[in-house]
This record gives sequence, C-alpha cells and structure tokens, in this order.
Amino acid sequence: MEGLIPVINKLQDVFNTVGSEVIQLPQIVVIGNQSSGKSSVIENLVGRDFLPRGTGIVTRRPLVLQLIHLTRNDTENRNHDGKVVQAEEFGKFLHTKNKIYTDFKEIKEEIENETNRMGGSDRGICPEPINLKIFSNRVVNLTLVDLPGMTKVPVGDQPVDIEVQIRELCLRYISNPNSIILAVTAANTDFSTSEALKLSREVDPEGKRTLAVTTKLDLMDAGTDAMDVLCGRVIPVKLGIIGVVNRSQADIKSSKELQEALKDEASFLQKKYPSIANRNGTPYLAKTLNRLLMHHIRDCLPELKTRVNVLIAQFQNLLASFGEPIDDKAQVLLQVITKFASAYCNTIEGTAKNIETSELCGGARICYIFHETFGRTLESVDPLGGLSTRDVLTAIRNATGPRPALFVPEISFELLVKRQIRRLEEPSLRCVELVHEEMQRMIQHCGTQQEMLRFPKLYEKIVDVVTNLLRRRLPPTNSMVENLVSIELAYINTKHPDFSEAQLVHKMMTESAVQETMTQKLSREAIQKQGLDDKRFNKLDIGTTDRNSETSSQPGSAPSSASQSPARTASSTNRRSGINLLPEVPEQAPVMKLSSREQRDCDCIERLIRSYFLIVRKNIQDTIPKAIMHFLVNHVKDTLQSELVCMLYKKEEINILLEESEHIFTRRKEAQEMLQALQRASHIIGEIRETHLW
Ligand code: GDP
Ligand code: MG
Repeated sequence: MEGLIPVINKLQDVFNTVGSEVIQLPQIVVIGNQSSGKSSVIENLVGRDFLPRGTGIVTRRPLVLQLIHLTRNDTENRNHDGKVVQAEEFGKFLHTKNKIYTDFKEIKEEIENETNRMGGSDRGICPEPINLKIFSNRVVNLTLVDLPGMTKVPVGDQPVDIEVQIRELCLRYISNPNSIILAVTAANTDFSTSEALKLSREVDPEGKRTLAVTTKLDLMDAGTDAMDVLCGRVIPVKLGIIGVVNRSQADIKSSKELQEALKDEASFLQKKYPSIANRNGTPYLAKTLNRLLMHHIRDCLPELKTRVNVLIAQFQNLLASFGEPIDDKAQVLLQVITKFASAYCNTIEGTAKNIETSELCGGARICYIFHETFGRTLESVDPLGGLSTRDVLTAIRNATGPRPALFVPEISFELLVKRQIRRLEEPSLRCVELVHEEMQRMIQHCGTQQEMLRFPKLYEKIVDVVTNLLRRRLPPTNSMVENLVSIELAYINTKHPDFSEAQLVHKMMTESAVQETMTQKLSREAIQKQGLDDKRFNKLDIGTTDRNSETSSQPGSAPSSASQSPARTASSTNRRSGINLLPEVPEQAPVMKLSSREQRDCDCIERLIRSYFLIVRKNIQDTIPKAIMHFLVNHVKDTLQSELVCMLYKKEEINILLEESEHIFTRRKEAQEMLQALQRASHIIGEIRETHLW
C-alpha cells in the first residue's frame, strides 16, 4: 500500500508546476514551541542531516518537504534532463528547478540562503514556503511541512506581533482538513500546557488527525519519566503519543551519525520504557505517519476526484471560449464574418442572444429615435412658428398685386404654408443622423468579447467595412428625406380629403365677402341718393353748375388748372417723380391696428396654414422612418454579409487578419497546460482507485 504515496506526490508535483493550490493534498504538518525539536524530528524521519537546527528561531519559512522512496533501480535509471545521477540520495528544490543536490550540506545552505532571500536576514518570518524534495532509498513516502516554532516574546529585531504571525502561519497549514498534525512537545516541559496540542484542538477538536510527539525523553530530570504522558494518562490523544529521542546540540556539534543516534534511541527506549518500546521511537513514528497518511488519502480520494473533474470541465470551457486552434483559415475567417453579420442583424431585429435588460439597445433604440425623439420633435414644431400676423398680412398684400382683392388670395396661403413645411426638413435630416449614429454604435455590441480580443486586426477591419457601408448609405438616405419634403412642397393639395378646413373657410369668406359687397353697395346707394338730393338742392340755388362739380366733390382731387398754387411747384421740385404727393410705399406693412377685414383675412390664412401643415406633418412623421428603414437600416442589413465577404475574404490578407493577439495565445497555452496537468491528475486518481484494494 505504500505505492499509493508516490502517486500523491506525483499529484502534488503536477500542481506545483502549475503553480497553484488548487487541490489540498494530505500532508504532515509539524507544529510546536520553538526549540521543542520539530526540525530534529523531521530530520530523523528523513534519516539525513540537512535541516538548519539549533537554539533560537532557526526555521523562519515553512518548508514543504516531499520524501520520495527510491528503489535501487530508480537510483540507477534516474536521469534528469540528460544529467546522469548515480547518487543514492539527492534533493531538489522547486525554486532551483532541475538542479540536483547530492550534498546534504548544500541543501542546508540553500535552505538558509533561501530563507534569508525572502525572509530577510533579521529574525522575522516569511509565509512563502520553500519546496524541497528528497529522493532516497532510506525514507518512507511522506510529505512534511516544517514550520517556525511558536514563541511568546519577540527577540532582537523581531516584530512585536511575532507570536500572532507564527500562530496564523501554523493555523493556515493545520486548518487544511487534508493535513495531519504532528504536535511536538518536549518531555522536559509540562505536557499538560502543550501549545501545540492547544493549537491543534482549535482546528481538529475531535483529534481525528492529530498525532502527539514527545521529544527529549533523555533530558528528563532524574527520577521522573514520561510513562504517564506516553500512555495518554495526562492528555489522551486519539491517534497516539509517540516518544522519541533526537540528537542533542552536543551530538550535532560532534557530528554524531544519524544511524548511530537511531541505535542509541532504540537502546534508550529498551532500557527506560521496555514495555512500550515497540510503540515508540523514530522508526515507529515514521510507520505510523505513513499509515495515517494513506488512510487519509484514501478518504480524500473521492472528493479529490470530483474537484479535479470540476476543474477539468472549467478549464475545458475556458479553453473553448478562446476558440479552437485554427486549422482552416479561410473557414475561420468566413465563420467570424458570418457570425458578426448575423449578430449585427439580430441586434437590429432584437433577436440577439445577448439582449441587454439594463438599457435599450439595437433596434429598440432606433424605434425610440423614430417615435420618441423624432416624433416628439415634430410634434413640438408650431404650425405657425416664426410667422407673425404682420408676415401674414404682408404676404396677403403682396399676393394681391395691384388689384384690391375681394377674397383672400390663395397664393399667399400657398406661399406661407410652404415656408412652414420647409421647417420639417431639418428634424428629418437629424433623424437620419441619429439612426446612423445608433447603427455605428451597434457595431461594438456584435462579436463576442473573446473573439474581438482574439483577432484584433480582423475586428478592426470589420468595423472599418461596416462604418464605410454606413457612411455610403448616408447620401441616398438624406436625399430621399429631402425629396420627401420637396414632394410635399411641390404640390399643395387643397383638395386633400383631410383638408376640410378649406371648404369651411371658403364658405365663411364667401359669405362675409358677399355681405361686405352688400354693405358697400348699400352705402354707395345711400351716398348717391344723398348726392342727388344735394344736386337738386343746388340746382335750385345756382343754375350754372357744370360737370366739374362731380370731380370737386371728390376729396383730394386736384384743384382747377387755372389756379395752380405755388406750393405745388415747390413740391414738384422736391420729388424726383414729381407726380404725386403720396408717402413712400412701406416695405413692410406699417404697424397699425388691423381693420376688421384684415384681421379676418389673417385668421383665415392662419387657420388654413395650421390645418394643412398638420396634414403634411403627419405624412412626414410617417414616411421619414420608412425611408430611413428602407434606404439605410434594411439596406445595410441586407448587404452587410456580402460586403464583408467582398472586402475581407481575400487570400492574400487572410494571414494578417487572423493573427491572434499575444494575450489570447498565451492564455490558451496556460489553460492547455493546466488542463493537461489536471487530466494527468485525474488519470492518476483513476489508477489508484482501480488498482487498490478498495
Ligand atoms: P525546533 O526549533 O523545534 O525546530 O527545534 P530543533 O530541532 O532546532 O531543536 C532545538 C534544539 O534541541 C537542538 O539543539 C536540538 O539538538 C535539541 N534537541 C531536539 N530534540 C532533542 C532530544 O530529543 N534530545 C536532546 N538531548 N536534544 C534535543
Ligand atoms: Mg526548526
């Protein structure tokens, strides 16, 4: 069953190279007070001197140590990167890549250097772990983590919160539910106050994964022993309490061989604790750990498998989102173009996949422009805006020409209403502009973010082509809109069925005109009658009245030629025309109170203008959106695909267009590597489940 652990180590390897803590693997974490012998325990398990040990704070960075058992065959065949390694034992650091350390003194130095590199040369700690693998035929398969020892009082230039820092670091490793905690307590300290056990209880209250180790059995005061502690009578530990004897500082100084130390340990235990000697000591500790680790791994496997599978699915999705690697460039190009074109059309139609819910987009915005923006603007155009009563009056007067008009002249209505209709052109053209802008904006919403990032050059070109197409559609659309307004101007259809106002006004005018003529006639008759009476009266008085009397009765008529006044001569010299005495013709109708007839005429014209204008406005409101849809929107929709193909689908440019962005390229590569690592992990897990007992 020991064969299981290399598999887990392989798994760990896989994830280390990928550089993530994706999966928490079972590992053994050593905690305990400073100088309680943690590093020594680990070293004994490894069976080699390679860890910096000593008094004070020596271990300042977590050391993740993988022990890998080598068979004789392994040592002979293990060639790393062409380097032939014949050593029976060697170490490798993750941070020095493939460098192989056969000298354990060098490993020790490298740990010290690496500790100083990240942790600084003072006595502070650094949470970044050092990863070390030891290959040996003298170790059992284990993954161990050596941690800085717990301390209470900062020394030297250690930060004041050193206790908290170390505590948190330890907690981080042991709270991993996949870890087995090795709580180390020195036998010459009070076991009942063991900091290590206290801390492990916090994360493992049921004691399912805590194993207690009592060191320094040899340093107990004379007359005392650790029997009670080791038998679990002081604090029971579910998984057991194992006593060991490591090398003392003096042994280290005298470079006592480890093998010798193990022998001494065994004989010490035989002598001091014969009844429980076979359940204590470093070899027993190693075996126990191995067993625990395997149980643990077994329990973790199903969940591990699920997690790996979930991750595989995630990375497969991620990879898929980067797009398939390109085989057939022409096909990919066509696909991207088609996809874009249909996305664009769908955005207009409102059938796009990524329809937004937070704001209007695509076709809906065009609808808004037509009916809200454009419609409202038209509605706000005052039919008589910019037209004063005086303008109307002047137009009427101009239209009648030299003749005094009986009816209000139609030509003035036509003139004025055209002027008003022309005011509809500007908002109509503005409407085209807005729709054009909207269609331009839509380009950004088509094409997935991923693809745009993947083929930046192609998308740049696509945007160019669509922009051009849109721009080319502007002149025909604008001219159609202008035409629609011109059409309205071309013929003022006063027989329009909706123009009932005309009949009404006409009738009203005729009536009032007839009435007026009647009144005029009546008054003329009255005057004539009066004149007749006067004549009769004059005849009675003066018998010599001639035809001149009629003219003289007219006011303002020139006096008889016989009596030319000097004033007349003076006036004729003043005026160039010299013919009349009238004031100059005003260019505009003079400001004055309108006569009732003028007032009535103005009202009529205004009513007509208003009524006819509303008819035209309704037409414009209806036809402009239709024209824009036909000449701009639908046209672009229909020709987009072929335009894109025509402009972009060229053999000589295909390579440039489909150049992938660096960013996507590297991300795909990373994802591929991760996926491979995960698949390897999954394969390994599968292997274990199939080949092993359960
Ligand atoms: P750590 O700080 O917990 O890693 O402790 P170390 O492994 O560095 O050991 C601290 C000191 O205690 C070293 O000088 C060791 O030689 C010494 N030491 C550790 N275990 C034992 C033991 O079982 N017996 C004796 N006599 N000394 C030990
Ligand atoms: Mg240490």
